[in-house]
Amino acid sequence: MSVSFTHTKHHAKWSDKQTEALAKLAKEFTLSTAQLEHLTSAFLDQMQSGLAGDHKSSDLAMIPTFVAGRPDGHERGSYLALDLGGTNLRVCLITLKGNHELESHSRAFKVSDHLQEAHISELMDFIAISIKEFITSEHISSKIVEHPSGSDTLELGFTFSFPVTQTAIDAGMLLRWTKGFSCPGAVGNDIVQLLQEALNRNEVNVHVAALVNDTVGTLLAHSYKHPNTFIGAIFGTGTNGAYVEATRSIKTMSHPTAKEMIVNIEWGNFDKDKRVLPVTPFDNKLDRESINPGVHVFEKMISGMYLGEITRNILLHLIDHRLLFDGTSSQKLNTHWAFETKFMSQIESDTSATLIPIAQILEQELGIYLNTQVDREIVKAVCQMVGKRAARLSAMATAAVVRRGLSVEGHFAGHGYPLKLSEGDHVFGARTGVHKNETATEGVHERTDSAVDHGGNLQQINVGIDGSVFEHYPHFKERMFEGLTELLGPRAKELVALGIATDGSGVGAALAALIATKHCR
Ligand code: ADP
Ligand code: MG
Repeated sequence: MSVSFTHTKHHAKWSDKQTEALAKLAKEFTLSTAQLEHLTSAFLDQMQSGLAGDHKSSDLAMIPTFVAGRPDGHERGSYLALDLGGTNLRVCLITLKGNHELESHSRAFKVSDHLQEAHISELMDFIAISIKEFITSEHISSKIVEHPSGSDTLELGFTFSFPVTQTAIDAGMLLRWTKGFSCPGAVGNDIVQLLQEALNRNEVNVHVAALVNDTVGTLLAHSYKHPNTFIGAIFGTGTNGAYVEATRSIKTMSHPTAKEMIVNIEWGNFDKDKRVLPVTPFDNKLDRESINPGVHVFEKMISGMYLGEITRNILLHLIDHRLLFDGTSSQKLNTHWAFETKFMSQIESDTSATLIPIAQILEQELGIYLNTQVDREIVKAVCQMVGKRAARLSAMATAAVVRRGLSVEGHFAGHGYPLKLSEGDHVFGARTGVHKNETATEGVHERTDSAVDHGGNLQQINVGIDGSVFEHYPHFKERMFEGLTELLGPRAKELVALGIATDGSGVGAALAALIATKHCR
């Protein structure tokens, strides 16, 4: 593997010490094909043991979501969706038009600091009242909603981006609060029931039909527009993935009835003990100083909350060795978490010869007024290393899931894969040769698509992705494809399509409500 900074043409003259230090860093941050390959097998092993319920040998929770179907774009009807994951509560009305198209209206309500710590019944009352306000202001009634079950209750799907163990599509117990929330009375209780009680208390005629994680919502939302979607992934504040698994392989479920089910991998926690991940001292420093040391180590090498901080740690190291900014830092750069991942995007976008835009970022955002062209070239090279490693690790997780989907045993491992599969090969919950058209008359259709066509040839696998890092970080997608090509072979681009899933948490929650009302009633 070559290292990107040595490829970048330098316009200014670096000192030998600077060149040497950057080469050393580049070595630490570069992931060779062989390393990626090794990580992929470890990821596949952890998926397997997670599915078997062996949580001693797996850091991957592999949570069954009870979402046992995917939309194919023909579904119709209007559903409410609720998205709670941070400081905003979003209430949406999603109208599915049945031709892969949909309309959505939404309104955001601010969740105050007080509510984030108030008793859970107070938070739930606030949510119920917000829904009531939305329904009234948008003039939504069951009459305008083309309601599938004919009842006059509005069905709602809830995207709840906190750790939950589910026992049904409409039941899930909160394990712990994250992201600044700490409402007493919620942990250990069923979130759906708490919300339903608040809706009843406030006389809001809405039924909570489904509870989903944002990765699952992303997969569902992408599936409505793009058939053959088998994976949903988030590369935003954090990172995670969900995929379609054959239910018989989920050993943690006692009486599976459906053929396929979406599994929430919780891949941010991959290899938390750092057995295989090539962590650097900069990663270890970040992990130790984080609010959750020793967990989500993989996420800490990939996602938007952390990339800027890794970069900051490296820049300070170079400053301390008098290799950058003449050995001088600033108050801002010395501040924990002050270097945002967004700055890396801006820095990497600067392709000018003199890198003056980088000088502006250094000045305005970080209070670094004195910087030379060499300094700016070094800062950019550091961002490239950190950003490229993140994209390649993201590719690794994606490739592992693709491989898992192509073969339960992972026996297509190695470079390249047979484009022609044999009868009985496992492909994302479908089996080659089984292609009966069992389309239901309305609602959720039995899946007739799969990753293989009738002739046993592979079809393109769609991956729905949400998150600012994937959307806005320059070259993130191209860098992911470099990794995917190394891991899946030269035809990776024919096999896998990476697409942005629009409003995964809103549309996905509505689709989960649709699936729940079709399957459970
Ligand atoms: P969330 O994951 O919370 O739903 P986002 O997908 O918007 O939200 O991701 C937010 C994260 O993305 C933050 O950690 C932020 O630092 C990072 N981010 C925001 N803008 C950019 C950008 N232009 N380039 C890279 N990262 C960004
Ligand atoms: Mg998001």
